[in-house]
Amino acid sequence: GDIELRRVREHVWEIPREGEMNAPARVLASEALLDHIGDDKTLEQLRNATHLPGIANHAICMPDGHQGYGFPVGGVGATDATDGCISPGAVGYDINCGVRMMTTNLTYEDLRGHEEELVDALFEAVPSGLGGGGVVKGDAETIEDILARGMRWAVDAGYATEDDLAHCEDEGFRDDARPEFVSQKAKDRGRNQIGSLGSGNHFLEVQRVTDIYREDVAESFGLEADQIVVLIHCGSRGLGHQTCTDYLRRIEKEHKDLLDELPDKELAAAPAGSELAEEYYGAMCAAINFAWVNRQLIMHRTREVFADVFDRDWRDMEMRLLYDVAHNIAKKEVHEVDGEERELYVHRKGATRAFPAGRPELPPAYADVGQPVIIPGSMGAGSYVLRGGDRSLDLTFGSTAHGAGRLMSRTKAKQEYWGETVQDELREQEKIYVKAQSGATVAEEAPGVYKDVDEVVRVSDELGIGDKVARTFPVCNIKG
Ligand code: 5GP
Ligand code: MN
Ligand code: MN
Repeated sequence: GDIELRRVREHVWEIPREGEMNAPARVLASEALLDHIGDDKTLEQLRNATHLPGIANHAICMPDGHQGYGFPVGGVGATDATDGCISPGAVGYDINCGVRMMTTNLTYEDLRGHEEELVDALFEAVPSGLGGGGVVKGDAETIEDILARGMRWAVDAGYATEDDLAHCEDEGFRDDARPEFVSQKAKDRGRNQIGSLGSGNHFLEVQRVTDIYREDVAESFGLEADQIVVLIHCGSRGLGHQTCTDYLRRIEKEHKDLLDELPDKELAAAPAGSELAEEYYGAMCAAINFAWVNRQLIMHRTREVFADVFDRDWRDMEMRLLYDVAHNIAKKEVHEVDGEERELYVHRKGATRAFPAGRPELPPAYADVGQPVIIPGSMGAGSYVLRGGDRSLDLTFGSTAHGAGRLMSRTKAKQEYWGETVQDELREQEKIYVKAQSGATVAEEAPGVYKDVDEVVRVSDELGIGDKVARTFPVCNIKG
């Protein structure tokens, strides 16, 4: 592209402020990662984001950043919650898409020989793909309850324990949720998707821990080499998507003046304090609650499947939630900006909160070590557990990357790969058992379509925004 980047220091690049920009923009990347970031509209979108009113410090692109709808995936933008704005495109369509990791006391040895049975049983038990159906069928009342109370609903309904709650970002519940601002259409879309993976990029993966980098932190997280863990990636399904669509349309119409000032319609934003800003925030928080329940129900099913396959109670296998983190979200948080504490809407789109020890939001279990951050790689590569780094509050409003990040479009991926071949090769060469609703999905998500997750995590670690704790490798994977 024609956007000039100035090197600030190792892994930090800046697009200087000029013209109508309200702040400079920053890209956090190594030179190798930067090569890819320049390929699409990422930098242009990042620069556009600096036009949002009330944007604090910088618009920031994480090392896994790539082009998205209006605002880059891997983007962080913090806007003043009093005189700034909130932008649905800077949260993303899949509100509270995120990942959770469940640990077990099983080792890879215990699991060897059961891979096929396990992957089949998981595929059978966990609803996935484009078709309808979830773990529970929600009537109107259930949906309202889930939207209002998130994981608290799941505890009362017998799908979650108090211990699960204590190991979820915000304890699985946004108090600001306002179900009455979620449209009927969105609720109807969510109703038969409660506890479902969906299609495409979402997955459930059984993994083994291969490397430990920080022994003390790994111990606090309950992680050790050879251990079996489960990673679940999905979001708020049709309910979140519809909510994003609804508010984009309404905001474009009602806040046309602001829209006209922005360089890209897709950045449509509601001014802080406006009715629509409040309604969107309340509706988004309700969709966040829905997504947490969604991941919880999938985890519940996973426990049942393990109990069946290994013929043991899941509690015996110590199947505990390590942490659940959101990576498409906007939250009111207090951060220091120019030496002053300010309340901001922190938009993290394809970015993970990475708070270090000491932030009041952290649950007691992680108050002294920093929060776990989970970064998936691909179905054929490692994934990582990090912990919130000391530098994250200064550099990224307490955030880091959310994945390896896409390298290749889905269309290109389908020309490049054939699903069945990818599956066969993974099984023969890596002993990874993949099962999917469609071969096209496997092609679209083939390991080669993603960037090098090791490099993304190296940059996060070296910047001190998220520190490497452990690395995992896939054993079984189910996809929509
Ligand atoms: P997103 O939320 O933007 O769709 O993707 C999150 C990240 O998940 C991607 O950037 C990619 O690195 C990772 N990912 C995608 N598919 C898989 C998978 O099947 N297994 C694992 N471990 N990671 C994946
Ligand atoms: Mn998603
Ligand atoms: Mn996601």
